[in-house]
Amino acid sequence: MACPLSATSFQGALASAASAEAAAEEVLNGAPTAYALCRPPGHHAGPERAGGFCLLNNSALAATVLRERFDKVAIIDVDLHHGNGTQDIFYHRSDVWTGSLHADPSDFYPFFWGGADEEGFDEGVGANVNLPLPVGSDGEVYLDALAVLVDHLQRYEPDAVVVALGLDAHKDDPLAGLTVETEAFIEVGKRLAALSLPMVIVQEGGYPTEHLSANLTAFMQGFMA
Ligand SMILES: [Zn+2]
Repeated sequence: MACPLSATSFQGALASAASAEAAAEEVLNGAPTAYALCRPPGHHAGPERAGGFCLLNNSALAATVLRERFDKVAIIDVDLHHGNGTQDIFYHRSDVWTGSLHADPSDFYPFFWGGADEEGFDEGVGANVNLPLPVGSDGEVYLDALAVLVDHLQRYEPDAVVVALGLDAHKDDPLAGLTVETEAFIEVGKRLAALSLPMVIVQEGGYPTEHLSANLTAFMQGFMA
């Protein structure tokens, strides 16, 4: 019920995935950064499961393309929701690190994943970091968590990064999980750009509000500054 389908859904999902793939190819070919405006989003899609408006995992696909040249790739997910599909795909691997900050899933989508105790399995132990935040947390809490997540990412020492850029943590987003102000996305952009690594930015969540375009603009302003 969290992933309705229509006759053209597969066509749309395929175009979205192709955008992420093209962005990753740009970075493989030497571009420092590329942004994929993916619709539908992808981070809830697992290897054999759709969910949360996601059919194909665009961020995971971008990471997979980057792995053709980069030994270690990190996916940092700043969407309001836990990136459970992405976690699932790489949970047993150490060559792709996954980290997510999100509204605490104990009473919030995706409900069954996203706990701080999920640290990876087998080869992947230590290559997954979850930072659940109390529902309703503001931009200060969100940015503090981002600092912790970035610190974990840097200790992994990736050669390239995928940003799963959800903008639905905003205070007016209809999914109403966190209360982040538009200005905070400037800071998110700045901090991720400061990693100075080859980077693919993949659009994840962000639902209709009058602030949605301003939130993306804020992120880009911070990133390009
Ligand atoms: Zn989301």
